[in-house]
Amino acid sequence: MQTADPADPAATDQASAPVLGVVVDVLERLWPTADAAEWDRVGLVTGDLDQPVRRVLFALDPTLAVIEEAAAWGADLLVTHHPLLLRGVHSVATTSAKGASVTALVRARCALYVAHTNADVADPGVSTVIADALGLTAQRPLTAIGSCGAGRVGELAGPMSLGDFADLLVETLPATAGGVRVSGPGAATVRRVAVMGGSGDDQFDAARASGADVYITADLRHHPVLEAREEARDGTPYVIDAGHWAMESLWLATGLEQLLASLGERPTSRPAATRVEGRLSGLRTEPWTFVAGANRARPESGGVS
Ligand SMILES: [Zn+2]
Repeated sequence: MQTADPADPAATDQASAPVLGVVVDVLERLWPTADAAEWDRVGLVTGDLDQPVRRVLFALDPTLAVIEEAAAWGADLLVTHHPLLLRGVHSVATTSAKGASVTALVRARCALYVAHTNADVADPGVSTVIADALGLTAQRPLTAIGSCGAGRVGELAGPMSLGDFADLLVETLPATAGGVRVSGPGAATVRRVAVMGGSGDDQFDAARASGADVYITADLRHHPVLEAREEARDGTPYVIDAGHWAMESLWLATGLEQLLASLGERPTSRPAATRVEGRLSGLRTEPWTFVAGANRARPESGGVS
């Protein structure tokens, strides 16, 4: 690396920007890769450990549009929650979307780093951010996965109807075309809430064992939900599918804030804000675009009011 000329502000900026290797160390302290699920693929995907990092973009998904956004802004690092390469690939040619994504990242000299299930189980992490946004108190982990536990259980400030709680959830999360889907009577009273960001259809037993009145997660299918409701004999926990993108994108601002704060703690002669600039993606990677026919079969009595 060349020695920076202190008389040249641009050169000084370059000299004081942390290199990717330093930023990766910080990322791994925030969200240890050892906390990721065995099937997961987290950590650094593309990039040169010696490249300076001045601009970091946070996004939920490394789609081609998000990579284009990162490149257009001149980002040196893109941090996403979801992995780009979860399954094995034998080519990164532009003939596939995955290959085109890797090629675009390399061409733009933009590194990609993934913090997925290791960010799910962190505190603060994907589920704690949702629990905090809902104002849940007396929070505890829903399950014992990871060093901090996965998911969150907590209490609302006071009891409210399931219908009002669904409205609160809609106001708390980023807007989506589909809103939230509720399984349970709108007039029922809820106070204890269990949350699992992302796809939590394997945690119905934990939600029931926690004594939660309502369980919020996403990507729910017919059989798991019906069976969970059968196990609960139509009682609690009621179930809400709040949408994968909406639930998890709430975490991005916290993740970015944590990274910038951690980088700022490093000894430097210049304020952290001038060394590394952070930004949240302005793109919505929610794949659903509209809903038709919602509520046509809404129950006349006991429905969400
Ligand atoms: Zn997810």
